[in-house]
Amino acid sequence: MMRYLPQWSLTRRKIFTNCARRFALQYFNRDKTKMVRTKSLQFIAHHDLMIKCTRIVFFELLSDLHKGVTWSDKLIISKMRFQINIHTSTKANTKLGLNKKNLLIRNGYLRLKKLMKQEIPRKILDNSIKEWSFYERIKSTKFGHLDVYCSPDIVYRENSVWHLVRLNFQSEHKQPFLDLELCSMLLWSQGNQYLPNLAEKFVIHGLSFLKGKWFYKKIRPNQKLLQETKQLLEKDVHNFNILFEKLYRNGDYDALPLAKSSLYCKRCPYKLNCPINLE
Ligand code: SF4
Repeated sequence: MMRYLPQWSLTRRKIFTNCARRFALQYFNRDKTKMVRTKSLQFIAHHDLMIKCTRIVFFELLSDLHKGVTWSDKLIISKMRFQINIHTSTKANTKLGLNKKNLLIRNGYLRLKKLMKQEIPRKILDNSIKEWSFYERIKSTKFGHLDVYCSPDIVYRENSVWHLVRLNFQSEHKQPFLDLELCSMLLWSQGNQYLPNLAEKFVIHGLSFLKGKWFYKKIRPNQKLLQETKQLLEKDVHNFNILFEKLYRNGDYDALPLAKSSLYCKRCPYKLNCPINLE
């Protein structure tokens, strides 16, 4: 019998929008794909590795800040170096030379420094925002029959207003549904018994990095926006399952739609043996 896949996350949405084959290989984990998955998942593009390490370092920094410990620039660089080193000790990345490593460390460091100059992180760092917490998007929230990975990265409170902040360390060029994607954080807040259940009690913030800069977006959500967000999630998961059904019938990953832009393929872990290379 065919499984139903109830999970939704921003990463799933992004990959699905860009390439059905990559999405299927990543999320439809059937025995048949185990080999290709195991081999492919050892691969991570250097740029993605830098993003991953930068994110880890930023959360470590927040964790220390929560305990009252602040970091020097030297410590940020050293933490970046440590993360890059442990992530490049895996087989697929052993070819990374010292210059390339230093470049990744520098890029991650600069990205973090620019982030720390943005208003919200700055106010957290200088202690003007006193009541705050941070989350890593590893737990899902139940929303009807869906499992949604939608927690904010940072939550803070000012007076009676709650602020939900999402950080996107590498944004897409086009984000036509950014408002709704950001509002998915409200679903997380609804599953949290300590937070109000009213959309109007929240402010949503998005910080996304693109072309060397952090871009800021602020949304005052309302019930209509929340309703549209829920519809977007339902529609996405429905489409994921249509794709799964298609694959279930013919079992051919290579027959699924491929990425429209070859730029997207550059960082894909499944590019080896992809039919796009034969086109
Ligand atoms: S290489 Fe490109 S077309 Fe092939 S799976 Fe990856 S993203 Fe899709």
